[in-house]
Amino acid sequence: MKNLNLSEDQAVYEAALAFIDAYFNDTTDAPARSVAPDETIAYFANQTFSKEGRSVDAVVQELLTDVYPHILKQDHTRAFGFIPGPASKLSWLGDVMTQAFNVHASNWINSSSASTIEENVIQWLAQQIGFTGKAGGVFVSGGSMANLTGVIAGRDKILSEDNRHLGVVYLSDQTHHSVEKALYIIGYTRKQLRFVPTNNAFQMDVHQLQTMIEQDLSNGLVPTTIIASAGTTNTGTVDPLHGIADIAASYGIWLHVDGAYGASFLLSTTQRHHLAGIERADSVSWDAHKLLFQTYSCAMIIVKDKQDLLNSFSATPEYLQDIDGGSVDFSSLGIELTRPARALKLWLTLQVLGTDEFSRRVDYGQTLAELGELTLSTMENWEIVSHAHFAIINFRYNHPNYSKEENDALNASIAKSIVDSGFAGVFTTELKSKTVVRMCSTNPATSDHDIISTLNRLNTYAQEYVAAHSA
Ligand SMILES: *Cc1c(COP(=O)(O)O)cnc(C)c1O
Repeated sequence: MKNLNLSEDQAVYEAALAFIDAYFNDTTDAPARSVAPDETIAYFANQTFSKEGRSVDAVVQELLTDVYPHILKQDHTRAFGFIPGPASKLSWLGDVMTQAFNVHASNWINSSSASTIEENVIQWLAQQIGFTGKAGGVFVSGGSMANLTGVIAGRDKILSEDNRHLGVVYLSDQTHHSVEKALYIIGYTRKQLRFVPTNNAFQMDVHQLQTMIEQDLSNGLVPTTIIASAGTTNTGTVDPLHGIADIAASYGIWLHVDGAYGASFLLSTTQRHHLAGIERADSVSWDAHKLLFQTYSCAMIIVKDKQDLLNSFSATPEYLQDIDGGSVDFSSLGIELTRPARALKLWLTLQVLGTDEFSRRVDYGQTLAELGELTLSTMENWEIVSHAHFAIINFRYNHPNYSKEENDALNASIAKSIVDSGFAGVFTTELKSKTVVRMCSTNPATSDHDIISTLNRLNTYAQEYVAAHSA
């Protein structure tokens, strides 16, 4: 039989070179967000695949003109929505190269150096947490997968197959929804979840946590896992980790810390102290595609005792103890078998920038948030609803003559106006049942002017809103 004549490589090479040249020399001032026009959406929605195919150039051009420009630009200097993704070009390089080799990162047999690097990076991150000795972990696609992996390990450690239906998990009303989703995925029912209220600083109320645990114990239930947030997505606040860890220790409950966003502040010199106590967790989620400046998708689940992951995820835990000179079979530490080598791009970024520069970049986000807070304090009618915590501020325009609902509508409207204008990605969230404007400023390329001009625009939109509604 004759080989198929596979002729695409040369065309891909040329397209790749042209792309890199155009991408790195692009000087257009892209909006923070763009939505594709209706015709474009209709075109893609109705598109089919031809029998004879098309040229690489034509298809690449379609992506460049009609797909990539119409995004919420996560690395825009005024992208303040959700948790932005200001990925470093170094991560991009590591990603592109790793994908070029299509590295299969399930185990040492497939990728000896890459597996060793993954283990080495995990151990370094574990040290940042303060885990020692037996710690381990695995790279996963994101915080959602990290949380899922963590709550499985917690369930399996505390519950037996016979009493799974009695397990109870404690979260706060600020816990990221991915945790609740993970708990339902693995079979918990709504009746097995306890939403612990938060205090005025949006932190889990430790006293109420303990009351709920006592109540559940007296009802014959089995307190299984506490989810502490180390940097909530809404406000960046950290739950009282020592207080929660004391309770977890005294009742023998698994402590999972969701640090998907906030764990990166372990690398900060000015913010690290807020994470004191994280070393007492059993498992920690940590997103690298948020504040470690990685491209999607890149996150880690790290546990205090690697054996706990092996117990949950290894088909044959006893045989999978470090084979081949201390190497690890990552498919025995988590859910995935075939995986991209997500650790390599983070390793490359850390190797090139060095840890001091990482610290500076992480710290910088908080400095920007503090500038935002200061700027708002000089402007009339603006209330700081949540102070600058881990580079996040929440604030609200309160017109003195408006009802709460009218001010809710005003704040929703001004955020929508600034997003629709393409100037900045700024969205609202709800805190203590009020609509508030939220800014997360994690991009090292964001300037003071980006912060101040965004706030000035919001202020102008607020005044225009009031003028339009007083007619
Ligand atoms: C972003 C986030 C998640 C979810 O992470 P993904 O990477 O989007 O799956 C979970 N928890 C917290 C606190 C987050 O900020």
